[in-house]
Amino acid sequence: MTDPQAPPPGVDLAELAVAPGASVDEAVAAAKAWVEAHVPVEWRDAADRGGREEIRKVRRFADYEAWYPTFARSGLAVATWPVAYGGLDLQPPVARAVEAVLAPYNLGRLNPLGLNLAAPALFTYGTHEQRLRFLPPMVRNEEVWCQLFSEPGAGSDLASLACRAERDGDEWVLTGQKVWSTWAHNSDFGVLLARTDPDQPKRKGITYFLLDLHQPGVEVRALRHITGEVDFNETFIDAARVPDFNRVGDVGDGWKVANATLSGERQMVSGSGSGGVDRIGGSGAEALVALAKANQAAGLPGSWDEPVVRQQVMKLLSEERIRAWTNQRVRAGLKAGRSPGPESSIGKVHQGSLNQRMQALATDLLGARAIAWDDPGHPDAEGVEEAYALSLPREVKGMLRSRANTIEGGTSEVNKNILGERVLGLPREPDPFQGAAWRDIPRS
Ligand SMILES: Cc1cc2nc3c(=O)[nH]c(=O)nc-3n(C[C@H](O)[C@H](O)[C@H](O)COP(=O)(O)OP(=O)(O)OC[C@H]3O[C@@H](n4cnc5c(N)ncnc54)[C@H](O)[C@@H]3O)c2cc1C
Repeated sequence: MTDPQAPPPGVDLAELAVAPGASVDEAVAAAKAWVEAHVPVEWRDAADRGGREEIRKVRRFADYEAWYPTFARSGLAVATWPVAYGGLDLQPPVARAVEAVLAPYNLGRLNPLGLNLAAPALFTYGTHEQRLRFLPPMVRNEEVWCQLFSEPGAGSDLASLACRAERDGDEWVLTGQKVWSTWAHNSDFGVLLARTDPDQPKRKGITYFLLDLHQPGVEVRALRHITGEVDFNETFIDAARVPDFNRVGDVGDGWKVANATLSGERQMVSGSGSGGVDRIGGSGAEALVALAKANQAAGLPGSWDEPVVRQQVMKLLSEERIRAWTNQRVRAGLKAGRSPGPESSIGKVHQGSLNQRMQALATDLLGARAIAWDDPGHPDAEGVEEAYALSLPREVKGMLRSRANTIEGGTSEVNKNILGERVLGLPREPDPFQGAAWRDIPRS
């Protein structure tokens, strides 16, 4: 068996930012020294001048992506993970102190679906060998991940899924169709649920797999959003082969494994994980204040000196603060080793609705500029949809994109069912097919 403290393949121990097992003081000093040595001076100056907004002005996403391997190899992206899996093995209080050092520079983690969705399943149900194989390249963003759960006939009722996997020696042969697969067109692997025993009740005959997307029998086709952009897909799987090594958990136990992924997803979408939904200008309700003040300066309606506007903005700003503090509490619980529970559903339901209301108000404050804008012309755009996507005002794009917030990661209605049952202790939804074999249950 490999030593769990050995460095992951391709990572030099000398590149780690903080010595594993460091105390708070040692770790903070080491993290500050690492920032001085590795974060580009232009970004640091921008952070000193005006925080995230200023950093955004000097740092394009492509710049961040190109620099990211330096961050990933330092172990700081996943500081509490074991060194062997790409982290620094820091105790949660030490990691929090290090996070505070890094916070001003807005060093977000890439590969969010890998880190927030696949990794929890691997940590809870994967083997050490699987973690060694998949986690380090995930941390370094060298293997990008997506989620292949939803199907045309299985969304809210995910357990009714029909993609099937049949065993063939040391491999499984998968056939089926997945849909709404975010970023599958840019991904290398997907976490996937498939039915391995149609004679079992629907939640029992499912198995959890890691599918290599670059193989014969896997075809990813783009779907275009209402904003004109492409970021999710249909995925067709026709006799694709998966080694048994890529099965996570026992055969037939996939529903249990999937719950580690789904809980991680709810936290990510609620903002209590490291990710978060699209925000207006990246700064939430503060951006609403800025918009209303800009209207005031320009003598436009929707001005900060209108009491109703101020009241609308402040209500959302207060809710946003409460959301942020609640998320902090959930994060602290996670870092203290408590597993994510139904409280991530509370965050998911609230954040989805809050973001929709913030985005809608931003569009209102834009007034006529939200329905008619200069078309700057985009000679590089491929087709009408992309030209449209590139020219939409940021607030309008945010408002359109936010429609998905109450659907993605489980709809608000379904999350309210979860809260009703698991938090309030209400009776479960009646299921006339309880205990019936999946193959005997009518499906859409
Ligand atoms: C932007 C976006 C990205 C996504 N990314 C991914 C991804 O990467 N991978 C992936 O696997 N999936 C992804 N999804 C799919 C998402 O998980 C599903 O859309 C979601 O679970 C709902 O399923 P559905 O679309 O089939 O709707 P349905 O399940 O058909 O629901 C239709 C309506 O009925 C309501 N409803 C259904 N059942 C109940 C019930 N029991 N009680 C009350 N109301 C109910 C729903 O709330 C909804 O309003 C994404 C979706 C979006 C919008």
